[in-house]
Amino acid sequence: MRVLVVEDDVALAAQLQQTLRDAGFVVEVEHDGEAASFAGSEEPYDAAVLDLGLPTKDGLSVLRDWRESGCHWPVLILTARNRWSDKVAGFNAGADDYLTKPFVMEEVVLRLRAMLRRASGSGATVLRAGDLEYDVATSRFTWQGQMLGLTAQEHKILAYFMHHPGELLTRTDISEHVYARDLDPDSNTIDVLIGRIRRKLGAPNLIATERGQGFRLCIPPSSAVQS
Ligand code: CA
Repeated sequence: MRVLVVEDDVALAAQLQQTLRDAGFVVEVEHDGEAASFAGSEEPYDAAVLDLGLPTKDGLSVLRDWRESGCHWPVLILTARNRWSDKVAGFNAGADDYLTKPFVMEEVVLRLRAMLRRASGSGATVLRAGDLEYDVATSRFTWQGQMLGLTAQEHKILAYFMHHPGELLTRTDISEHVYARDLDPDSNTIDVLIGRIRRKLGAPNLIATERGQGFRLCIPPSSAVQS
């Protein structure tokens, strides 16, 4: 999942970037409001972490720009302010959650995962497709109850599929959500990675190829979502 971090404190931004990368997110950073407003409106992110006090444009205005340009992905606001009126303004501008500085890094990860889970529509902590389970809270995959060993890239692709079950995902969709914008993988790379995931799953039909279009995670009718 691809996350935009907007924070003008360069040291804090770097720390957030490292923590979120370690947690398996693809992370891009912007340090000022204008650039953040543009990036959010142009690039397909899955979530954002947004500071409120920013140079060139304040965080609330950035958030309003994103929402007006049709970006619906969840936004976690980070701020030193903890006045009730600021929180109300944040939620009114379209924020999904709020974290007051100082905070523990791990809490950002937990809140991001919770926001993404809610945004995927199910609200479930365990996403299922047949014998495949993805525990969103721990970011672990199991296949028939056994831990599934995946590389970082395979994990990112499969997590993206689990958050979009049954949807047609093009190669562009997949590459945009699992790679940073400065990395444009060879078009064959996605096919190779999906081939490896299929072999590891031992259920080649779980991820179906839609000829000339992309891929789709097929949910067997027996799968239920568990909270
Ligand atoms: Ca700031």
